[in-house]
Amino acid sequence: MKLGFSEAEEAFRAEAAAWLDAALSGPFADVRGVTSLVEQSDRRREWERHLGAARWSCVGWPSAYGGRDASLAEQVIFAEEYARAGGPARLNHVGIELAGPTILAFGTEAQKARFLPAIAAGEEIWCQGYSEPNAGSDLANIRTRAWRDGTDWVVEGQKVWTSLAQFSDWIFAIVRTGEGTVGPKGLSFLLVPIDQPGVTVRHIHQMTGEAEFNETFFDGARTDAGNILGEPGDGWKVGMALLGLERGVSTLGQQMGFRNELDAVIDAARANGTAADPRIRQRIAQAEIGLRLMRYGALRMLTATEDGTASPAALTYKIQWATWRQSLGELAMDVLGQAGEVAEGSDYAFPLLPNLFLYSRADTIYGGTNEIQRNIIAERALGLPREPRGNA
Ligand SMILES: Cc1cc2nc3c(=O)[nH]c(=O)nc-3n(C[C@H](O)[C@H](O)[C@H](O)COP(=O)(O)OP(=O)(O)OC[C@H]3O[C@@H](n4cnc5c(N)ncnc54)[C@H](O)[C@@H]3O)c2cc1C
Repeated sequence: MKLGFSEAEEAFRAEAAAWLDAALSGPFADVRGVTSLVEQSDRRREWERHLGAARWSCVGWPSAYGGRDASLAEQVIFAEEYARAGGPARLNHVGIELAGPTILAFGTEAQKARFLPAIAAGEEIWCQGYSEPNAGSDLANIRTRAWRDGTDWVVEGQKVWTSLAQFSDWIFAIVRTGEGTVGPKGLSFLLVPIDQPGVTVRHIHQMTGEAEFNETFFDGARTDAGNILGEPGDGWKVGMALLGLERGVSTLGQQMGFRNELDAVIDAARANGTAADPRIRQRIAQAEIGLRLMRYGALRMLTATEDGTASPAALTYKIQWATWRQSLGELAMDVLGQAGEVAEGSDYAFPLLPNLFLYSRADTIYGGTNEIQRNIIAERALGLPREPRGNA
């Protein structure tokens, strides 16, 4: 197992760090450190374009589509340097981490040429239309329907929890195209433009005070017949491959962001004296150990993935980081005490650490809840009997 990075990889790190620092202390200093997913969205859209123009937007993609052909290790390095430099939350996170790689894996040449350069250039922002009011963990229960009408697909139904749909130009949606089908059969993976009369996006306010996600209604929405990944009926296969990305290696680089958050907790504990409390010290040490374990786990997965042997350990990573971050949020509140309960001003705007506490409640839900992750580990890594499924 590799425990560090090669000289060439460290040279890549230095180049990325220098570029990021120059951009974020120069023309984009105003978005440095913006962790909110909704604040300064216009400036963060410009930032996406700036990254794209310098080909730092999706470093792992082929250069033909605007990337840098970066190895997985280099992608992790870039994510680390991005967090270290205080790069703002990526407005096109879903396009870069989920839509793009899925189009690369399943798209036709025409689809790749149409969609990938626009994502890499920061010109088209994407969101994810999976969940529905009755299809979350039980995703195969999707009811949103689509059917062919001339040269179009027509879409009817409702998605929910669609993060960043209010800023998005496109949504990828799993929809039911097989009439009378139930469960994973008869689903298709469509790419649908959002700016059209048949699509309505309605904010949902969350307890952080922000409205990051939305309800998305399709009411006779249309998309070109060619905007389907795979064949009609391939929606489950394509959709699950995308979820593998959402839960897997695409998240290995996020640990530098966790480092920043843990450091903020330690600074707060030092500042208000709670660092002297042995119970708090113990929990900080525990958090530090957890972070280091994640780091070595990530390096292990990276080594295995680069060797082409997907490690079952990768299946444990989502639950590991989500649970770690949630307890860090709880520790942050115990460090802050009552001061952590006071919003800044009247805008229900919480500072970094209370926001971490509130937001991290969602970490064990999105991308598959902890319970669902345990099922996946049991079935796919440990080979235990499959959970009974009603409509499989
Ligand atoms: C911040 C955030 C952003 C999101 N962004 C998006 C997005 O952009 N696009 C999108 O499509 N979705 C998004 N989601 C939705 C997310 O994917 C779902 O919330 C998640 O899959 C859980 O589904 P659910 O909310 O319907 O809960 P349910 O599936 O109803 O689950 C309720 C509870 O039951 C448990 N449970 C359910 N089934 C089982 C089982 N078989 N075994 C054991 N326990 C079980 C769950 O673990 C959970 O505790 C987002 C969610 C959050 C919190």
